[in-house]
Amino acid sequence: MSALLEVENLRVEIAARARRLVAIDDVSFSIPEGEVLGVVGESGAGKSVTGTAILGLLERPAYQAGGRIVFRGNRIDNLDGEAMRALRGREIAAVFQDPLTSLDPLMTIGAQLVETMLTHLPIDRQEAWTRAHRLLAEVGIPAPRERLQSYPHELSGGMRQRVVLALAFCCEPKLIIADEPTTALDVSIQAQVLDLLKRMCRERGTAVMLVTHDMGVIAEAADRVAVMYAGRLVEIGPTSEILRAAAHPYTQGLMASIPTMRRRGGDLLQIPGSMPRPDAPVPGCAFHPRCSHVMDRCRSERPSSFVSGASLAACWLAEHGAPAARPRP
Ligand code: SF4
Ligand code: MG
Repeated sequence: MSALLEVENLRVEIAARARRLVAIDDVSFSIPEGEVLGVVGESGAGKSVTGTAILGLLERPAYQAGGRIVFRGNRIDNLDGEAMRALRGREIAAVFQDPLTSLDPLMTIGAQLVETMLTHLPIDRQEAWTRAHRLLAEVGIPAPRERLQSYPHELSGGMRQRVVLALAFCCEPKLIIADEPTTALDVSIQAQVLDLLKRMCRERGTAVMLVTHDMGVIAEAADRVAVMYAGRLVEIGPTSEILRAAAHPYTQGLMASIPTMRRRGGDLLQIPGSMPRPDAPVPGCAFHPRCSHVMDRCRSERPSSFVSGASLAACWLAEHGAPAARPRP
């Protein structure tokens, strides 16, 4: 099956005063139709920047410095603004952490849904209102007909994020980029909104790139997991496989932190040290200053991605997993 989305050797740089900082370094992955790909990592690992690049929303000083983004067989990273806007509303939708990013405070919820549909779909106004009503009911908004006339500020955070889901799905996109979609919500609401997202995707065959710092969200919702660290993809594989036997020491650290996170709702990671920032890159494996398995070569040679079971891991420890499939450095 051909992939819905292919990200090939993506490189994003940030133009700083005297030099160019690397925010995303040679990241490749694909998402087949209908798959939920979880993208996880610490804050600053490059998850959101990757999503932003796919949406064509990178803003100066950040820019795509290399690689390709292919959607349904067509390259999209070189589309002009208008073509990309059309694609974004219709085929690729976004859900961000803060619902107020997606909602216009001056428009009623009904009007926003209707205008979005009229912009992208060949339907008339009456049909759009009918669909808007049906969508609000589907996302669990009580009294949906009355709520069509509400403004975003009249709803709770959880209800607003449900409206954002209705908006994301209203044009039946093939792909949703969801960046920390439940992070800003009360813990009691998070699971409900995540369940709703999962159900709507499953019923429609919509694929999702689910960006999160929360391994619990990954375990709940993702078919596969991509782990990012310091702008690089360090491991990717089926969720079940990664939960059972992560190959990369960083992923193992994330796994070990799940019980702590659940208990305290706290930080992602108990691994000492911190992730290198783009203005202070680390040679070799970017994780080596924090890795308890570090070897001499890790300090100077950057590992490529090696096959490890059903996963790919960018770690020298995985080098002899399956030499035949070893990609070129
Ligand atoms: Fe650790 Fe070396 Fe693997 Fe990097 S390449 S994660 S430093 S063992
Ligand atoms: Mg982010």
